[in-house]
Amino acid sequence: MIKQKLVLIGNGMAGVRAIEEVLKINPDGFEITIFGTEPYPNYNRIQLSKVLQGGTSVSDITLNEWEWYEDNKIRFYPGESVTSINTKTQSVSTDKGRIESYDQLIIATGSNPFMLPLPGADKEGVKAFRNIKDCEEMIEYSKIYKKAAVIGGGLLGLEAARGLLNLGMEVDVIHIYDYLMERQLDRSAGKLLQAELEKQGMNFILQKNTAEITGRKHVTGLKFSDGSKIKADLVVMAVGIKPNVALAQEAGLPVNRGILVNDYLETEIPNVFAVGECAEHRGIAYGLVAPLYQQGQVLAKRLCGIQDEGYQGSVLSTQLKVSGVDVFSAGKINEDEGTKVYKTYDDWHGIYKKVLIEDGKIAGAVLFGDTKDGNKLFNFIKTGARIEEYLQSAQSVESEENVAASMSDEELICGCNGVTKGSIVEAIKANGLTTFDQVKGCTNASRSCGGCKSLVSDLLACTLGDQYQADQKEAICSCTTLSRDEVLAEIREKGLTHIREVMNVLQWNTDGCSKCKPALNYYLGMIDPLKYQDEREARYVNERMHANIQKDGTYSVVPRMYGGVTTSEDLRKIADVADKYKVGMIKVTGGQRIDLLGVYKEDLPKIWSELDMPSGSAYSKGLRTVKTCVGENYCRFGTQDSIGMGIRLEKKFEGLNTPHKVKMAVSACPRNCAESGIKDVGIVGVEGAWEMYVGGNGGTHLREANLLFKFKNGDELVEMIGAFLQYYRESAKYLERTSAWVERLGIDHIREVLSDEFMVKEYNNRIDEALSVVQDPWKEAINNKNLLRDLYQTVKI
Ligand SMILES: Cc1cc2nc3c(=O)[nH]c(=O)nc-3n(C[C@H](O)[C@H](O)[C@H](O)COP(=O)(O)OP(=O)(O)OC[C@H]3O[C@@H](n4cnc5c(N)ncnc54)[C@H](O)[C@@H]3O)c2cc1C
Ligand code: SF4
Repeated sequence: MIKQKLVLIGNGMAGVRAIEEVLKINPDGFEITIFGTEPYPNYNRIQLSKVLQGGTSVSDITLNEWEWYEDNKIRFYPGESVTSINTKTQSVSTDKGRIESYDQLIIATGSNPFMLPLPGADKEGVKAFRNIKDCEEMIEYSKIYKKAAVIGGGLLGLEAARGLLNLGMEVDVIHIYDYLMERQLDRSAGKLLQAELEKQGMNFILQKNTAEITGRKHVTGLKFSDGSKIKADLVVMAVGIKPNVALAQEAGLPVNRGILVNDYLETEIPNVFAVGECAEHRGIAYGLVAPLYQQGQVLAKRLCGIQDEGYQGSVLSTQLKVSGVDVFSAGKINEDEGTKVYKTYDDWHGIYKKVLIEDGKIAGAVLFGDTKDGNKLFNFIKTGARIEEYLQSAQSVESEENVAASMSDEELICGCNGVTKGSIVEAIKANGLTTFDQVKGCTNASRSCGGCKSLVSDLLACTLGDQYQADQKEAICSCTTLSRDEVLAEIREKGLTHIREVMNVLQWNTDGCSKCKPALNYYLGMIDPLKYQDEREARYVNERMHANIQKDGTYSVVPRMYGGVTTSEDLRKIADVADKYKVGMIKVTGGQRIDLLGVYKEDLPKIWSELDMPSGSAYSKGLRTVKTCVGENYCRFGTQDSIGMGIRLEKKFEGLNTPHKVKMAVSACPRNCAESGIKDVGIVGVEGAWEMYVGGNGGTHLREANLLFKFKNGDELVEMIGAFLQYYRESAKYLERTSAWVERLGIDHIREVLSDEFMVKEYNNRIDEALSVVQDPWKEAINNKNLLRDLYQTVKI
């Protein structure tokens, strides 16, 4: 059957969710292409506040990894913007000169932050808070500057302000109204919120109109309409958003505030749909994910030809993601002549609760300080329940410990994703789920703002009863309930030899995902290195391609240079290849290697063959580099031959698969010029001996390595490194760095295990076995015609 060409403009939360829904209904129905201005895979924009507030990294908020696109055969063009739509020829053009035709087109271009047209708004240091780049820029600013001003005391402004406080800045929040979050809260709740945030260190300047942003090139402060001024080195504008409709407008699509769509997300032009913040449905352009996800579901059904009543609009609810502050609101928030209110105010504990009633039915709610009734009230608002129902349930809930237990099956647990208690309980029972992550993976609950995490955990506890405590093990992913140890035990006991076999025999509840497939591939290879046939398609993209994919879709090539040493001949070869293939940049890496950046996929095999140098494995979950210092032969302080030892280690362990990347370093004296203290395995030469350090990490989770042993003899050192690496290979979870593994097991325990000479020999036998089958992946790829054709000529990423 000929597949329809489905093109999505905008790789954001709404558009990609619509694609996920399409894939659920008809995984083979469409040839899908996605264009995204931002150079990242689809991420959770909501969680940017958490990234800014610390404790969450950008990589933690990815919703669909690069592999997801590939696994679903989606042609994804990151960092590429659609510049025009031709509705007559049914095609789109991009800023990279690409023209793509479509049978069905989805526009999901989101919103642009609204920037007040103030004098000085174009100065350096004036930012919006919308995407990863904004977030990263604010983090960089906080390292240099101290004073921040946030214009806008709404949800986004307050989340940004909290983040900037966490980054060590002094923060003024300027708001035009006399209380905060006036669109979601009433005056009482707004004032309580202000008091709480003031306690956290935020300063508020209310009822002020900003007239000008002062400074020459760079911002220095704000001037208000009453003539008063404040200083600021960074100004964040969080005053609202406007649907991003320019593209649609230019293509002649009817646009009001947003792109006009009917109940099926159809625009007035055939085969063109709009979803998310850029769309306007029945006069409303929504700015929260819950309605956008509902729209995505309807759109997917429409595209797949499933009859449905269409999208009927949404009731909204809001939560503020600032720790220590519980705020919730939904539906109507301010009373008028037609409404009555049920209100409680506990000034002592700072708890405020207001339920608005219209014709005896619950029409809205505002909660501050205690939001556990939020979901319940939201459900009541949506179903038009009577106030008596809430009052009864509130009484019974208060007498019960567990809110989750008292909820009805129809009640929503996760508002963002529309997941009810009933569907979660059913998923737990049907799939034997035992952990929060499994429920999240299986049902989508808690996959957006994360506000319902504790409710989901409570539901697990009350559904599983005693079993919950007993079964608190971490499954390797949501496709199975089995833990890593259980899977490994089953593979060994049953002699399983292929990923698919493992999944069939151990009754996986899906076809596998980008988390379990690479992990199984590693475990199978680790258990039986001599017989196991690596399943390349189960590897992450970098390892499958044997090159690092960069944000513009090109690759980087890093030839191996043992111990960081090269020759003039190799340098000449590298320079020639760089010229011939017009590589974007030649860069020396932190691991003392040369990185050729900006290489096109089709050129990879030619470059590898012309270089005729081994792969530097700069992409692999394996040994990357052994960094060395100058050492005894040249340095005045060196007491050992660090370069010689580095080369020996790198030659011995190159190509080894490990649970995560492994970096080593050898320094020839405690001055430690090779930074051995922050490596997975770091060696430091001292007078007449080598010290061996393990579990260091210089990356996101900085960790100083622990001294494991000290050796007089280089051979003993190499043997211990072999034993250490093999123990790590056998007992770490896939994707667990040595730093996390050493912390989990404890350095004393590892030292005890490796103090057993017999075990050291055993581990070395097993690692030698694994090393005996290692091949240079670049040579292997160049010599295999099928690989060349499948990977380097036809695969689109
Ligand atoms: C810091 C922050 C916190 C938030 N917190 C919450 C919250 O707690 N709860 C909640 O419900 N919502 C929250 N939101 C709002 C929520 O993130 C948005 O409603 C949602 O992301 C909108 O989804 P979308 O797909 O319509 O737009 P987006 O996610 O913005 O995606 C649109 C994408 O399209 C791309 N694009 C635009 N034009 C083109 C083009 N011509 N070609 C290619 N690509 C293009 C954009 O670069 C963007 O990546 C928050 C937003 C922010 C910024
Ligand atoms: S670590 Fe010591 S021996 Fe090595 S380069 Fe530095 S000072 Fe010289």
